[in-house]
Amino acid sequence: MGLFDFLTGKTICPRCGNTNAKKAAGRILCPNRSCSNFDAALARSVDQRANASQRGLSGNFSPRRPIEIRYCDFQGLDRTFTVDADSLVRRKNHMVANAVPTGRKISLSRARIQNLGEVEAALPERFAPDAPQPSARERQVLAYHKKHGSTSPLYEKIRAKYPNW
Ligand SMILES: [Zn+2]
Repeated sequence: MGLFDFLTGKTICPRCGNTNAKKAAGRILCPNRSCSNFDAALARSVDQRANASQRGLSGNFSPRRPIEIRYCDFQGLDRTFTVDADSLVRRKNHMVANAVPTGRKISLSRARIQNLGEVEAALPERFAPDAPQPSARERQVLAYHKKHGSTSPLYEKIRAKYPNW
């Protein structure tokens, strides 16, 4: 019995060697259906855990505008992420985007992105570094009418200046 078995409740089934077995009330419960220690409730929870971890790794998210981000992770390993450029946002020192295959948002440190120039160039236009930025006052007007679904001559004028906002 391993040192931490009492913490995780996990043990190895002495009959079939299954590592997801459990000790409960002095007997061994085993998720292996063909084992005499088989326990249905445990088998179900093991199945659920396996499904959950598989879901984390698979998916069929296919971006309309895919872009590859070459990244050097904290261990110094080169990794490549494919993300949806349309979902790309800059947040302080990170780039955030929906990634393949799950479509879940990932946050990558800008300093570790090897092709940062290319990634920034793929930002939706309104976030591009050289795109004209509305002033605080103009931004307020844009936000107000967007929120209320209304319009005004001033709003139209500002919209014309910043069509991507
Ligand atoms: Zn067993």
